[in-house]
Amino acid sequence: MNDKLNQTVTAIKGIGEETAQILAEMNILTVNDLFEHFPYRYEDYRLRDLADAKHEERVTVEGKVHSEPSLVYYGRKKSRLTIRLLVGRYLIQVIFFNQPYLKNKISINNTITVTGKWDQHRQSITANSIQFGPYSKNKEFEPVYAVKGNLTVKGLRRLINLAFSQFGEDIHETLPVSLLKKYKLMNRRDALRAIHFPFTSEDIKQARRRFVYEEFLYFQIKMQALRKFERENSNGVAQKYDLEKVKQFISSLPFSLTTAQKRVTNEILFDMKSQFRMNRLLQGDVGSGKTAVATIALFASVTAGYQGALMVPTEILAEQHAESITSLLEPFGIRCELLTSAIKGKRRREILQQLQAGEIDILIGTHALIQDEVHFHQLGLVITDEQHRFGVEQRRVLREKGENPDVLFMTATPIPRTLAITAFGEMDVSVINEMPAGRKTIETYWAKHEMLDRILAFMEKELSKGRQAYVICPLIEESDKLDVQNAIDVYNQLEAYFHGRYKVGLMHGRLHSEEKEAVMKAFSVNEIQILVSTTVVEVGVNVPNATVMVIYDAERFGLAQLHQLRGRVGRGSEQSYCILLADPKTEVGKERMRIMTETNDGFVLSEKDLELRGPGDFFGKKQSGIPEFKVADMVHDYRALEAARNDAAKLIQSKEFWELPEYASLRDHLYRSGALSGEKLD
Ligand code: ADP
Ligand code: MG
Repeated sequence: MNDKLNQTVTAIKGIGEETAQILAEMNILTVNDLFEHFPYRYEDYRLRDLADAKHEERVTVEGKVHSEPSLVYYGRKKSRLTIRLLVGRYLIQVIFFNQPYLKNKISINNTITVTGKWDQHRQSITANSIQFGPYSKNKEFEPVYAVKGNLTVKGLRRLINLAFSQFGEDIHETLPVSLLKKYKLMNRRDALRAIHFPFTSEDIKQARRRFVYEEFLYFQIKMQALRKFERENSNGVAQKYDLEKVKQFISSLPFSLTTAQKRVTNEILFDMKSQFRMNRLLQGDVGSGKTAVATIALFASVTAGYQGALMVPTEILAEQHAESITSLLEPFGIRCELLTSAIKGKRRREILQQLQAGEIDILIGTHALIQDEVHFHQLGLVITDEQHRFGVEQRRVLREKGENPDVLFMTATPIPRTLAITAFGEMDVSVINEMPAGRKTIETYWAKHEMLDRILAFMEKELSKGRQAYVICPLIEESDKLDVQNAIDVYNQLEAYFHGRYKVGLMHGRLHSEEKEAVMKAFSVNEIQILVSTTVVEVGVNVPNATVMVIYDAERFGLAQLHQLRGRVGRGSEQSYCILLADPKTEVGKERMRIMTETNDGFVLSEKDLELRGPGDFFGKKQSGIPEFKVADMVHDYRALEAARNDAAKLIQSKEFWELPEYASLRDHLYRSGALSGEKLD
């Protein structure tokens, strides 16, 4: 960065301490900050045809004054000036409030240009700006800025103008020339000028295009640098697995892999074999066969002489996985063990001791797996399921134990591609975008709450066939208590309805984890037929006999979350159903319910969700890691995001990047953000 532009704003003649203080409140400290305080929208002064203008839209029109203006005073100091104006074929009224002095400046047959709000019903414009004479093209757009205190938009524009006249020449390029050329982007100085003082819509478009790309590139270069150094500095393990045995294992599976499963398996095996440490995200819809892929990877790791660990979010899920994975791997002489907090005393000591001695090949459990007392003999691969949060901290724990395993994160939350490469930009991403053949799609219906009787009758029919049902009550955000009460109410209602015929269980966040496990267990062995629950059940549990999912107040959930919940059914061979009880008030709400009934594709849903709710809401408040961009929009500018990502990945690997002056700005950025020293990112 150029030193001159890094001076505080008071370096600009005309900006004193007082103004500087207001600017500081807006986070504008340096001259460069002022240049980078971009307008959030533009006032459009282009001439409009009234035939296309919508009600209440802001328009600019040129017309001929049709009769002498009439001025009416009312109240104290209040006035209304009305002008009849002939605009093309339209005779409209133009109204100015509280500007009586205009009366003497306008006469019949004058041509004037006015801008204001169009009232289609009254055929009138409430004007707030006027040009005497015909429309002139010199100012089609006027930028509008966020301002604070007694600084007005106009005042801010003046300051930016001052900055340009004194420091315009000091604006230097921050993008590599090669990339400017590649995408035909405006240079920085022109782009700054165009974004603050545009003449045409094309100016704005081109300037914006440049800054969108710049923002993405600067972000991605950081992510890609992290990725590179994470891999190279970590001396991962090169797992020389036995390909023949892996093939044998794959052909021993009761099904053949889908094309997508084969592809991601190859991606994972490639990483495992390389000296780099794998840091990979495996995405795939519920039931797409991620666990099968994970099992292959674990198998491969064992053939290479390493141990593997699989971490899942709940104990019950750990038990389920341990059971199914053991049955697949045991015939190959591989020893799997389950480790949960329920395993205590002597048995626990045995497992820990055998693990350290290398007698256990694969350990399956909750995240307790990587705690202090657990020591592996030679850990090669860690796989985590639905643990977005397994991250920096846990990896540090492993590193400090001297383990440097390959890591694979699995998630069934379909993260839109754009978010995946942003939030997880430092990871590699594999996607299973295909379901095993012959799956029955879950039929999804949207019903109003008043139809509850029919829903209950439908549940009864399914239950009578020996099936089971989930009933989900939403989290009530403001109140944990209401939330539980809500679930209890629904439980009581269903209990009364099905009494004596079917057993209803209740699960909510106030239960202790042993109580939760007990309820889940009872449901999984069909001692309970109906499970009423808050969304705690959202994280994976596998009960193939459950075929009905009823979701109360479905409009309160995000699409991705609804889809996750829906994925709890449809796991067996029977047709499954998902019923959304919802009375959405808004169009967006209705649209979301419709989308749910129309598609079973998690990725389509997640893209829609992102579009409807925006990135901030997508992961919920807790999830961070998604940067805020000034100009760029991850959803609408995803092409630029992808381009920037690819460019950044290439740059980081190239020799030129580390040597040539044209990349100095980007390199500086890496040093300043700590990406190179491995410190925390800003
Ligand atoms: P996920 O972990 O993605 O939810 P799983 O690996 O648990 O999915 O697979 C879901 C079910 O589908 C399991 O019963 C599994 O045995 C089966 N399955 C996995 N891959 C295939 C395949 N290629 N063809 C048929 N069935 C498969
Ligand atoms: Mg799974």
